[in-house]
Amino acid sequence: MPEKYWPETVVLWGAGATKNLGLHPTSELIQLVLKISKNDFSFLEDKDEKLASAFKKLVTEDLIKDPKLSKVYDFKALETIISTNTKFNMHELFTMLDQLIDNNMGFNAFCDGKRKFLRVERVQAAKRCLILLIEELERLSIQKVPGCMDEEKMEPYYQFGKILAELMVEEAKTFESRGYKMDTRRFYLYSYAIISFNWDPVILWNIFNVHKEVNRNPTYLKNGLKLQLYDDFGTQIASAGLDENECEIRYTTNESQCKVINDYSYPSRTMRIGKVLFPHGMFGSRICPECGKSIVTFAEKWDRLSSEIFGPSILKPLQKNWKYRTPKEKLNKRGAIECPYCGQITYPYDMTLIIQSLSKKKNIPALEELKTEMGLLIKNAKHIIFAGYSLPIDDIMVKTFLCHLYREMIKKN
Ligand SMILES: [Zn+2]
Repeated sequence: MPEKYWPETVVLWGAGATKNLGLHPTSELIQLVLKISKNDFSFLEDKDEKLASAFKKLVTEDLIKDPKLSKVYDFKALETIISTNTKFNMHELFTMLDQLIDNNMGFNAFCDGKRKFLRVERVQAAKRCLILLIEELERLSIQKVPGCMDEEKMEPYYQFGKILAELMVEEAKTFESRGYKMDTRRFYLYSYAIISFNWDPVILWNIFNVHKEVNRNPTYLKNGLKLQLYDDFGTQIASAGLDENECEIRYTTNESQCKVINDYSYPSRTMRIGKVLFPHGMFGSRICPECGKSIVTFAEKWDRLSSEIFGPSILKPLQKNWKYRTPKEKLNKRGAIECPYCGQITYPYDMTLIIQSLSKKKNIPALEELKTEMGLLIKNAKHIIFAGYSLPIDDIMVKTFLCHLYREMIKKN
């Protein structure tokens, strides 16, 4: 049987790759959450004043005094749970919260010589609060001034995206001259794939913007058609597009579209596509609580320095430029995104972040599909590049794939 074609190079993108931007790895995030729970905001000293005070207000006022928010995101409950163990790491904390929730159990806290019991509902709300804090901390860390990321720090990521795009154009020319058929993987699939274990969309946003530029000024191939570059997320994701007052559904591109567009019977343009996967989920993505579909929001403008790509914040000053689009979103605010399929409102806690927890009972179909795709990519890669990804001890999923690869390699040699 002929060998199946998969990208030669797979980049495993991890927290180390975005550290220079100020984004925190999990080990730092838990330290910050511990500090916040002790009312220590010293880490905000170098931050833009408006952002710093908005974040402080979120934690000390909104999450405590707002009757609605404090119920959904129970900071007091989280504080109580954390106060019982000053050495919590993120993994232990999430595993414990998940185990309590899965078993419908409350939490008995002993702190300052007193006993305090939290019902399971409050444990759930504490977990929501923890996820919210992680998201808000990362959104805060990426902003230099409200709504904007640091241009100088972002430059290397943009340049990286540019080089990748240039290489993909060069590849197209080479593959065309070798006579590869346009509607086959050998031609249209990029020779690289990126698997991001980060929740931040920085690398994706830079690649998107570069592709947008390339597609606006396309290279023409010998077949007389313009070449266009796109990305495939390994699963179908929808977003809402706004057209006048109507909310219309939009889909991210995928490989099957590429095959149809490159069909020789209907020549219009030539498309190439690359795999960019987020198996741990991404900020701004949601699973609709009603219909179960996977949705995502992208920034309204093609501004590569806009922090909007991190999705809406529950507090306006922490995502200054975010505009709620539909009447329902405008009514609910607080991080609301309307599901383009069924119209249900989703909130930040409908985000599908995979946190390193031992309790992974609930399988999310969209993420399961990504796992399969990730396995195939890793298994078939000729080169694997570790870009700031340190293979955390509990990332069993990736370990399994790499072990398999290693065994195959030994067999071959
Ligand atoms: Zn829905």
